Amino acid sequence: MAIVGAGPAGIYAAEALSQQSDVAVEVAVIDRLPVPFGLVRYGVAPDHFSIRSIRNTLERTLEKPSVRFYGDVAIGSDLSIAELRESVDAVIYAYGAGTDRRLEIPGEQLPGSIAAAELVAWYCGHPDVHPDTDQPSLEDHLVAAAIDELISTSRHAVVVGVGNVALDVARVLIKTVDDLDDTDMADEVLTSLSRKNITDIHVLGRRGPAYTTFTTKELRELGQLADVDVIIDPADLELDPSSQAVVQQNKVAARNLVVLQEWAARPLSGASRHISFHFWSRPTKIIGNDRVTAVEVERTMINSDGFVVGAGRRPTLAADLVVRSVGYRGLPLPGIPFDERTGRVPHAEGRVIRDGSFSPDEYVTGWIKRGPTGVIGTNKSDAVETVTSLLADVHDGAVQAHGRSGKLDRLLAQRGIKALDMPAWHRIDAAEIELGVSHGRLRTTLAHRRELLAAAEDDHRPM
Ligand SMILES: Cc1cc2nc3c(=O)[nH]c(=O)nc-3n(C[C@H](O)[C@H](O)[C@H](O)COP(=O)(O)OP(=O)(O)OC[C@H]3O[C@@H](n4cnc5c(N)ncnc54)[C@H](O)[C@@H]3O)c2cc1C
Repeated sequence: MAIVGAGPAGIYAAEALSQQSDVAVEVAVIDRLPVPFGLVRYGVAPDHFSIRSIRNTLERTLEKPSVRFYGDVAIGSDLSIAELRESVDAVIYAYGAGTDRRLEIPGEQLPGSIAAAELVAWYCGHPDVHPDTDQPSLEDHLVAAAIDELISTSRHAVVVGVGNVALDVARVLIKTVDDLDDTDMADEVLTSLSRKNITDIHVLGRRGPAYTTFTTKELRELGQLADVDVIIDPADLELDPSSQAVVQQNKVAARNLVVLQEWAARPLSGASRHISFHFWSRPTKIIGNDRVTAVEVERTMINSDGFVVGAGRRPTLAADLVVRSVGYRGLPLPGIPFDERTGRVPHAEGRVIRDGSFSPDEYVTGWIKRGPTGVIGTNKSDAVETVTSLLADVHDGAVQAHGRSGKLDRLLAQRGIKALDMPAWHRIDAAEIELGVSHGRLRTTLAHRRELLAAAEDDHRPM
C-alpha cells in the first residue's frame, strides 16, 4: 500500500493498516517534504508544545517494521499517480488541504494582505516559504523576505476570521520575541519577529460571538498574555434569537461567550498592546495604493433565511497588515479525481469515486477527504473508516495483491530519486536539537530544504 502524505491522516492510516493482522501489508508513506508530520510540524503553533509533541506518537508508527517513510518524493511530479498505482496494490490519498480560502473583496491582492496559511508556514519554517537562495521564487507563495518586510514595518494588523488559526496568528503577532524564544522557531523567523512592532490587532468575525469556532482553552490564552489588553464592545455580545439558540445547544459556544463577557466587563489595564474583537463585522474593501493602509468594515446581521447580510458601515480600521484566516482548501493533484466545488476528492466511506464509480485501488483520508475541519484526533477515526473500507475490499477481492513488493523502490531508483527514510529524519531531528541547544534552546527548526537535506546526510555534522 502507498499513502500519499505523511501528515496525521496518512500516518493514522498507516497505523490502522499496521495494527491489523488479517492482511499482510507493507506500507509506504510518501511525502513531498523531506520531513514527516504535515501540519503538526508546519501548522500547529510553535508555542503549543504539548500539541506539537503528538509527533512523537506519529513517529512511532513510522518506525514500525511494516511501515516505511519516503520523504522528499512529490507525487504528481516526481512520480505520476498512474506510476504510483502501478507500483503498489492500493493507494490512500492523504495530501491535505494545500491552500487558503480568499475573501474575494477589492484590495485583497495588495502588499500587506496575506493568507494565514502563508504566515503560519513562515513562522513554522516551511521550506515552501523559505526557499533556497538558488531556488526561483515560488509563484503562488509569498516568500520569507516579503513576510519579514511586512512584519517589521507593521503596527496595526487586522485578522479576519474567528477560528483557532486566527487566534494562533493573533497570539504569535502580539507576543514579544522573548515570549517566543523557548519555541523551536527558525533563527531567521525569531530575528524577524524581534524587529516586530505590532501594537494593535483587530480580529473580525462576520457573525456574532455565539458563532466562533475557537476552542475555549485557546481563547482564554489571549486574556493571559502579559502587557496585552483584550478589548470588546459589550454591545457586540448581545445575543439575537439565532445566537441564543446556538448558545443553548453548543457548550463550547456557551463557554466562549462567558470568556468574552468576562473580558468585556474587565477594566483595561493600560497595557501597551491590544487585541480587539469585532463581531458582526466583515471587511468589504482593503484600502491602500502600494501597500495596505486600512480596512473598510461593514456591520452584519443574520437575515430571516439565515444568511449574513450587510447592515451599515462600521468605522474603517487602520492596518498595515491584513491576515485572512477564513479556512483552508484542498487542491487538485494531477491524475486524482477532484471536486472543484467542495475542494475534496470525491469518495464514499473513503473509497475514491472516479468517473462515477468506485476506483478499485484508490482511497482517501484526512483533510482532502472531509475538508479542513476537526482536530488532529479527528483524522484518526477518519483514517480508520478509510482503512476499514480498504480491508473489506481486500476480503471481497476488489483489491488484489499483485506481488509488487519492491516495485516502488525499483521505480524510484530508476528515476534517480533518493527518498529520505526514518534514519534520515532522525539525523535531521538530531541536527535541529543540536542547533537549538547551541543557542540555549531545546530545538531550532531548519527552514530551508537544502539545510534539511544536508542534515539528512549520513556524515552530517551541525554547522
Ligand atoms: C495553522 C493550523 C494550526 C492547527 N493547529 C491545530 C491544533 O493546535 N490542534 C489540533 O488538533 N489541530 C490543529 N490543526 C488541524 C490539524 O493540523 C489537521 O487536522 C491535520 O493536520 C490534517 O491532517 P492531514 O494529514 O489531512 O493534512 P496535513 O497535515 O496537511 O498533511 C498532508 C501532507 O501531505 C503532503 N503532501 C501534499 N502534497 C503532496 C504530494 N503531491 N506528494 C506527497 N505528499 C504531499 C504534505 O507535505 C503534508 O505533509 C491545525 C491546522 C492548521 C492549518
